[in-house]
Amino acid sequence: MAKKTMKFATRVIHVGGYPDKETGAIMPPIYQTSTYVQSSPGKHKGYEYTRSHNPTRTRLEECLASLEEAKYSIVASSGMAIVTLILHALPEGSNILCGDDVYGGTYRILTTVFNKIHNIHFIDTTDTSAVELAMKEYKPKLIWLESPTNPLLRITDIKKITDLSKKHKVLSVVDNTFMSSYFQKPLTLGADIVMHSLTKYMNGHSDVVGGCMMTNNKSFYDKCWTLQNSLGPSQAPFDSWLVLRGLKTLAIRMEAHQKNAFKIAKYLEGHSLVEKVVYPGLKSHPQHKIAKKQMTGFGGMITFFLKGDIKKSKKFLENVKLFALAESLGGVESLIEHPAIMTHHSIPKKVRDELGISDNLIRLSVGIEDCDDLIDDLEAAFKTI
Ligand SMILES: *Cc1c(COP(=O)(O)O)cnc(C)c1O
Repeated sequence: MAKKTMKFATRVIHVGGYPDKETGAIMPPIYQTSTYVQSSPGKHKGYEYTRSHNPTRTRLEECLASLEEAKYSIVASSGMAIVTLILHALPEGSNILCGDDVYGGTYRILTTVFNKIHNIHFIDTTDTSAVELAMKEYKPKLIWLESPTNPLLRITDIKKITDLSKKHKVLSVVDNTFMSSYFQKPLTLGADIVMHSLTKYMNGHSDVVGGCMMTNNKSFYDKCWTLQNSLGPSQAPFDSWLVLRGLKTLAIRMEAHQKNAFKIAKYLEGHSLVEKVVYPGLKSHPQHKIAKKQMTGFGGMITFFLKGDIKKSKKFLENVKLFALAESLGGVESLIEHPAIMTHHSIPKKVRDELGISDNLIRLSVGIEDCDDLIDDLEAAFKTI
């Protein structure tokens, strides 16, 4: 069957997942090798050295490209390695526009590493007219979007921004980690490049760190691939194999995450100790309509504000038992965290306050356990405050 006609839940299993030609092994071999034998100098089967190419990684890249309806894909050792490749591919001194509440690590690399090479301008990408003004003023080479954002789950109208990017000849990148390729396909909304931290939903089992980018822009892909080969953050074959394995259940996992998240968001919305719940699937979400238009689901991330101060937040976080208190997200197990102290600590307090990342804000990565158990766990923790 042609890749193009396969549905998503088939592609996650079969694209890049064909049986081994030599032995018939139904699962892909882990090509745990650094180098490849050549029959004559320069004569080889497309593989010379694993930093450049590895057959297990090639299979993963094939699958990922298909999931975002892209021609090209690069898999690297982490999401941050992908951010590094993309930003190094721009000419020195480029102006870059970036959403003002992006992932903490993206904010950190932009403000401590790439600020020495490029000019970075943070902007509210949910404000289309502000984006257009900034494009006119700075003539940026690239705009970096995250939607929904982390941890406030604000939604940018991707199509509107990519229309502007095309008009002003700005490359657009969407960090699609929170939705996974299952719920949102930024390239089909006009983006030039989509990236993921594979560490999160795409692999989904909290047992590997990785990143990827997909694009139809051949020259940008070539630049990034050459950088990966030069800088060296290529993913190890075993890690690529783990992601291939994790991806197989992406479609059913995302459905299960969303089902639980919806129930929990509604439970929290009705709770007397909760000030506010932010979940793109709720009608109360300020950009619910845009979310509905550009996503095919709302994911498993919920942010909520407790009634009370930092002491109460800490007490609540110490008293959940099933929800694990940990950074990261997107695994089958439920996690809970406090962005101001944990994931977003590298953002200065003043900026956090401006963004609304307050001390009573709690972020949930809802897993795929039985939802009744998850709600019982939250209820028990509420009782302690
Ligand atoms: C985790 C994350 C990253 C960074 O990925 P790593 O795999 O941790 O390097 C980038 N963007 C988002 C939205 C993330 O959640």
